Amino acid sequence: MADINVAVKKLAAYGLATGLIEKEDIIYTVNSILIVLGLDNTDAEIAEIEKLSAEVPTDEAELGCYLEKVLGELDDYAAATGLIENDSVVYRDLFDTKLMGLMVERPSAIIKKFNAKYKESPEAATYYYYNLSKNSDYIRRYRISKDMKWIAPTEYGDLDITINLSKPEKDPKAIAAARNAKQSGYPKCQLCWENEGYSGRVDHPARENHRIIPVTIQDTKWGFQYSPYVYYNEHCIVFNSQHIPMKIEHNTFCKLFDFVKAFPHYFVGSNADLPIVGGSILSHDHFQGGH
Ligand SMILES: [Zn+2]
Repeated sequence: MADINVAVKKLAAYGLATGLIEKEDIIYTVNSILIVLGLDNTDAEIAEIEKLSAEVPTDEAELGCYLEKVLGELDDYAAATGLIENDSVVYRDLFDTKLMGLMVERPSAIIKKFNAKYKESPEAATYYYYNLSKNSDYIRRYRISKDMKWIAPTEYGDLDITINLSKPEKDPKAIAAARNAKQSGYPKCQLCWENEGYSGRVDHPARENHRIIPVTIQDTKWGFQYSPYVYYNEHCIVFNSQHIPMKIEHNTFCKLFDFVKAFPHYFVGSNADLPIVGGSILSHDHFQGGH
């Protein structure tokens, strides 16, 4: 098994290299990681982590591989020391999301940065937020990169086809545990605001590393976020701050236009509010957009 001390340093170095944390945050971050790992000492030094951060790849694909490897080592440690119940993908995801959440600023700080970028341009704001969503591992780059994509010519025109591999594979141990778990009504669904910072459970993904941007749609509070599973370029979700059902009506179109007025470089659309055809979460009013 990899040296846990080295893995801790590499994770902090990743945070520094991607701008999740700054130099002044290094010791604090290392200590936070140690707490989650149940450790109380390390030989990590600021200069060493700065040096390691210079070795973190900048290429998108290599950066994903780097994080996958480091988190894998930390998950292995958690499995070997009993920090996670089962050594399977759902439990590993729950654990490493907690680690990543330590390096993501609080919502108010992220919203301030987003709004400052928005004053430059809506593009600058979404560029910042999309990169944050990937660097925080809310969007797991190394899984998205395994998606299969191709274009199929049809008599109606070219059809983009994607096989999405970024949702965690079925995990028999987690399915069995979820069957016996007490039913929880919190958060009410995967689109609710209450997912922000949530620990997750065997039957609900962890979101400690998730941050939401508030937007105003038809004078009501809505949330803007990316889809963690990215079906297409900068796949975003715009959702009602209240857990209320989808309803397609005249006002739906006013809402859609409000969003594209604020983000003219994005498109937005809606699934039908009918079961089966939409295949979406009908219990929570939301739209899907992208770049
Ligand atoms: Zn909901």
